[in-house]
Parts: sequence; structure tokens; C-alpha cells
Amino acid sequence: MTHTPIAAGGCQCGKVRYALSVAPQRSHVCHCRMCQRATGGLFAALAGAPRADFAWTKGEPAVFASSSLARRAYCRDCGTPLSFSYNRPDSHFYITIGSLDDPEAAPIERQFGVESRISWVRFCPDIPEEKTGDSPQAAAFLAEMRSNQG
Ligand SMILES: [Zn+2]
Ligand SMILES: [Zn+2]
Repeated sequence: MTHTPIAAGGCQCGKVRYALSVAPQRSHVCHCRMCQRATGGLFAALAGAPRADFAWTKGEPAVFASSSLARRAYCRDCGTPLSFSYNRPDSHFYITIGSLDDPEAAPIERQFGVESRISWVRFCPDIPEEKTGDSPQAAAFLAEMRSNQG
């Protein structure tokens, strides 16, 4: 990371910390089944930054390759889910909004994976929705995916 931190966050035990040198970008939730399982929650809430604007600043997270396309980092000591990233250097690096010191700084702009949204979840009805693989580019990219979730 080359610039001054604009946003920071970390896990609940404090052993892993990170910083962004830009304001959180592309904030969204993903209701897809893989994100539900990865977070143990009803959906993943993620905000991103270009790779060059993200850095781990304390400790080293553990990383699980949840699929052949992506990795999810978490604290090995307390288990807090911390990040999601595709294995492509040009794609944003996403951190979990709940792990930010100031989640208010990352209002969500979009909901993904709504085909798997749990039927009783009533959530941000004013935020635009997208299904997994809605765009042809996304569909082609995701067609290559092999899940590593059990
Ligand atoms: Zn921790
Ligand atoms: Zn997802």
C-alpha cells in the first residue's frame, strides 16, 4: 500500500488488521449459497479496493480457497471472516463490511446472488439486485468454477 490509510479494520480478537488507502468501493451483499456457508451468516457483506490500495497491517490471516476461482481469508485464532478475492490481479480485493472499524463508511450499492436469498430475509428492498452470472462475462467466468466447499 502506497498511501495513507483511509479505512481500516480487523478481526474480533485484534490479531489481524488491515487498511485501505481509498474509501471502500463497490460495497455489496452476496446472498449466494457459497457466501452463506463461508460467513455462517445469511449473506456476505463486502466492500472492495484495488489490490494496490489494500494491505494487511498486522498479523497474517489464514486463507481458504473456497473455490478454484477465489480465496477467503479469516483469522486463524478467532475465526472472523475477513476477505474475499478472486484469483485475478485485476479484480478488487474485498473485505467484510462488518470487520471495518467504521461499517457506516461502506453503504451497500448492490445485492448479488439473489437467486439464493433465503425466503424469509427482508433486506434493503431499495438496493438493486442481480442473480449470479447475470452478465455474459460473469457467466463465462463462473462456468470455470470448481467449488472446494464440502
Ligand atoms: Zn482474530
Ligand atoms: Zn456469493
